[in-house]
Amino acid sequence: MPGKFSFAALFGGTCYLCRGAARELLCAACDADLPRLAPPRCPRCALDSPRGEVCGRCLSDAPHYDATVAVLSYEFPADALVHALKFRGELALAGLLGALLFQRISGSEVDHVVAVPLSDSRLRSRGYNHAAEIARRVGGGKLDLGLCVRSRDTPPQMELPYAERRRNVRGAFRCTRALAGACVAVVDDVMTTGATLDEVASALKSAGAARVVNWVVARTFPAR
Ligand SMILES: [Zn+2]
Ligand SMILES: [Zn+2]
Repeated sequence: MPGKFSFAALFGGTCYLCRGAARELLCAACDADLPRLAPPRCPRCALDSPRGEVCGRCLSDAPHYDATVAVLSYEFPADALVHALKFRGELALAGLLGALLFQRISGSEVDHVVAVPLSDSRLRSRGYNHAAEIARRVGGGKLDLGLCVRSRDTPPQMELPYAERRRNVRGAFRCTRALAGACVAVVDDVMTTGATLDEVASALKSAGAARVVNWVVARTFPAR
């Protein structure tokens, strides 16, 4: 488990990306250059959609989630920031990524905020769940990290071909209590095929959730 992070000790008042002077983790120029996603996008999966309508992929194979908010395109430097948070223990980046997400979702009305849960074995080896660390920055009083848990361990999605990801996570999550009619937001770092988020949404809907929205930092665009 990484120790407590001190902003000053870790970054020394310099921009995390360009090392120029910065009062936040990123200087104003690097912040402005982040690959922010712009409309029009499918409201359900956040992929490109010419008129901002629900895309053909969501129409032909409707996911269990109802909407997706994604802030960044998963390209440099968004990929580097997520990677450093996830694999290098740079937990201060959860504050930056969480703040970016919070700007986009502020004002959204939900009943519960959860994070995609990590398996116990990965939680033990990594020491923290990066998605939960981001969710802490956006969940406020609605944060409920114990609401959705893993029911079994699965190999990491990123090690598998896209076609196998849905099967890999099937039945991998469960809710710890009933959710009659609730609206739940699910936080994750990166959405690629959406298979994991679809499975989490399926578990939440099975528990009675009326609406599930994905709040993700970055979106990738899988080949169909
Ligand atoms: Zn910079
Ligand atoms: Zn879509």
